[in-house]
Order: sequence, then structure tokens, then C-alpha cells
Amino acid sequence: MSYYIDNFADDLGPEKVIHIYEPKSKLRAIVVIDNISLGPTIGGCRMAPDVSTQEVFRLARAMTLKNALAQLPHGGAKSAILADSGTEEKETLVRAFAQAIKTLTDYIPGPDMGTDEESMAFILDEIGRAVGLPKVLGGIPLDSLGMTGYGLSVAGKTASNRISLPLEDARMVVQGFGNVGKAAAKYLGDLGVKLIATSDSRGGIHNPDGIDVPALAQAKDAGTPVDQSGLGKPVTKENLLQIESDIFVPAARPDVFSESNQKLLKTRLVLEGANIPITHEAAKQMHKRGITIVPDVIGNSGGVICAATEYQRLNEGNAFDRVEATIRNNTEELLKRVINEAMAPHDMAQKMARERIDKAMSYRAHM
Ligand code: NAD
Repeated sequence: MSYYIDNFADDLGPEKVIHIYEPKSKLRAIVVIDNISLGPTIGGCRMAPDVSTQEVFRLARAMTLKNALAQLPHGGAKSAILADSGTEEKETLVRAFAQAIKTLTDYIPGPDMGTDEESMAFILDEIGRAVGLPKVLGGIPLDSLGMTGYGLSVAGKTASNRISLPLEDARMVVQGFGNVGKAAAKYLGDLGVKLIATSDSRGGIHNPDGIDVPALAQAKDAGTPVDQSGLGKPVTKENLLQIESDIFVPAARPDVFSESNQKLLKTRLVLEGANIPITHEAAKQMHKRGITIVPDVIGNSGGVICAATEYQRLNEGNAFDRVEATIRNNTEELLKRVINEAMAPHDMAQKMARERIDKAMSYRAHM
């Protein structure tokens, strides 16, 4: 049953769109439960003052597709607490949010921008369900393990075999040396790939001989911006996008490449770490130019696979094994079918997800 129909509703969902206002704490929040055919939904809870319903829906839909592709027994959802994440009332708001979603048992929240494992511990304390928990509560610390970056390295290894790109000394550019970018640089570095340029929100560095990844990670952890690390020649964030490479990893923001600037990218393989870093049209044009792309819904699914593994009370060894097997199989299937069925990678990923969801929906009398 659909409680809310808007111009974005389609044959997948959203199942529920809920706007929450709690007068005592002044909590304002949005929850979108998109599709539950594969099981109770998992999706992040974002904390920011300016998130729209449409945006929460788009993020929830991405989770529906990502969870289906990862063959998890979970549907897709997302939520947002509309407040500044630096507020002194954070614990109060997070706890009020947990109470407000208590009866939405089809939604299991996880951390996202503005929330963290402590927030998830508060939610667990209130209602007994959350993922992305502190280790002491059974959590698997996916950011410190670099699980999403590890998954990108698996996608990179699989795709490079397929396109005959030797990884030893392959040149890599990583936009956004944060949790995901740092771990992608580390794990791909372990396979012989050389990081030649990277950036953060201030600026970037370029070093054709290879950037010392552990040294840069240490500098960043100590609070030094990338362009002041002394580990390469400073470049602007914009110029970084034009540096020729073999592998490009966008790991910062959405919509970095659109139709108007996609021509700037000179690389052979894109591993999408961020969500929607390349618009649909731009990705199609890059595909026509011969660039191989592993889309976000496959490439960056390491984080949610880890969260689902935690929810099943399994350990980090299980999570690494599962990320490896799932992303390898999906990348192989995707790249094979992109050629056999002459489809662009993002369309193909969507088709693969839909095949799994449609099959699951066929077993249900009611949603
Ligand atoms: P993060 O905040 O740790 O890192 C983001 C980095 O990007 C920061 O270093 C920031 O300074 C930099 N940045 C911001 N704007 C930039 C710009 N214009 N140019 C260059 N660098 C810029 O975040 P994260 O956890 O690494 O997530 C990165 C992206 O990946 C986000 O879009 C997130 O939604 C997505 N993602 C994250 C995970 C995860 O497991 N953390 C999983 C799936 C998707």
C-alpha cells in the first residue's frame, strides 16, 4: 500500500514517504522507504538542514538498486534529520528521531553525512535496531577498515583484467582523499597502482612519480590539507580533473562530470566511489569514447555489504569475503553484458538490479 504519491512515484515505489515533526524537541525529519520486496530496508540517516524530500527519495532509490545488486536480503530507504550536524542538541534530536521511527520496523538506519557510529548507538539504545554501530556493540568499523575503498579495488582488479590494463604502475587519480578515496588509494596501491594526483575540498597535488599514500594519509589524519602536504606539486581541484591517467576514482561529490565537461576526462577506467559523480548523459558519452566505467551502485557497495554483514552479527572477515565475492561477480557480469547487450554501464547496472527486484516482487501479493 502506498501512503504518499508524488510525481516521483513509479512501479518500484516509494512505499512510504514520512514527514516527521516532534514539537518538544523540534525534530524535523524525512524518511523514505522505497521498496521492501527483498526484505527490511537498510539506508543511511543524513543530518543536514537543507535536504529535500526529492533528494531523500533519490538516495533511497539508489539504495534499493544497490542492495539488490549486492544480493542483500534488504530493500532500500533513506532518511534525513533536518538540522545542522554540529548542533548541541544532536543526541536529543537523534533519540527523538529513533522514537519517531520506532514503528517503522521495515527501516534499519545506518550512518550517513552528519551522523556517525555514536548516533547509531543512540538509535539502537532507543529502538533496538541500527547498523554502523561502535565495535563494542557488535559494529564492524567500515570507514577505518576502508571497506568501500576495498570494494573499489576489487572492481578495479576485475575490470582491469577484462580491458587488459596492467595494474603494475598504472597511473591513478583520486578526487577526494577522504574515507573512501584514501582506502581506494591504499588497496589499489597494494595491487601496484601508482597514485599520481589527488585532492580534497581545498585543492590537490600532482606527482607523476607516485604519491606516498601512507604519508599522505598520516598528514591528512593530522589535519594537514592535501595541497599543503608537500608530497606533490599543488594543482587546483579543477585542473586535477584534466590530468591524464589509467584509472580515475571520483570519491568526493555528486555531478562532478556532466555533458559540458566530460570531455576533460582522459582515462581508461573509472571506479565510481562517490554516489552519482557522473551524470547519466555524461557517462553515456564517456562510454562511447571507450572509457570503462564501474557504476557507483556496484563499485561503492562495500559499505552497505559490510553494514548488512554486521546486522547478521557476522564479523569483519565475513565482510571482506562478501565484499570481494559480490563486487567481483557483479563487475564481471556488468562488463560482459555491457558488450553482449550493447548497453551503457549505468543502464546495465539498473537492468541487473531490476531483474532481481522484479523477481522478488513477483512472489509478493502485497507490498
Ligand atoms: P569524506 O568526507 O570522508 O571524504 C570526502 C573528501 O572529498 C574529503 O576529503 C573532502 O575534502 C573532499 N572533497 C569535497 N569536495 C571536493 C571537491 N570539490 N574536490 C575535491 N575533493 C573534495 O567522505 P567519504 O565517506 O569518503 O565519502 C565520499 C563520497 O562517497 C560521498 O559522496 C559518499 O556519499 C560516498 N560514499 C561513501 C561510502 C562510505 O563507506 N563512506 C559508501 C558509499 C558512498
